[in-house]
Amino acid sequence: MASPSREDYLEAIWILTRDRGAARVSDIAARLHLSVASASKMVRRLDEDGLLNYQRYRGLTLTPLGEGRGRSLAARHAVLERFLHQLGLRDAVRIHAIVEGIEHFMDGEALAAIEALWDLAQRDPAWWEHFLAHQRQGVNPSPGHSPVQTDP
Ligand code: MN
Repeated sequence: MASPSREDYLEAIWILTRDRGAARVSDIAARLHLSVASASKMVRRLDEDGLLNYQRYRGLTLTPLGEGRGRSLAARHAVLERFLHQLGLRDAVRIHAIVEGIEHFMDGEALAAIEALWDLAQRDPAWWEHFLAHQRQGVNPSPGHSPVQTDP
């Protein structure tokens, strides 16, 4: 798998084939805000690697290998969006953009930890409410750490 853009392609293709049966290169390009030329280059590479079946002019479908990887990339994305929502973030567009940035660095262990936290919050909502109330009060930075500076 490796590079972020490969993962983005496979995730996008998985979503497109799930929703429409097949993905067209132009739809993939539009979804990833890339040129059709670079999308078709990557599509040929994923075809060579046995992840999809590409027939020019006909749209493409995923092989079982591509389907499995695409599904787990989409699931990883969904877990992270759900987690940010759980943390109290509410702007869906922003949440999506953040996840696009961080998802590639999440391995199985980090994801499992996030899922365990989410699971506990579901089982014990009072505990999670306690966290949210604590968060609303504002947190004092630890000694020796300057407050995180972010763009408004
Ligand atoms: Mn994603």
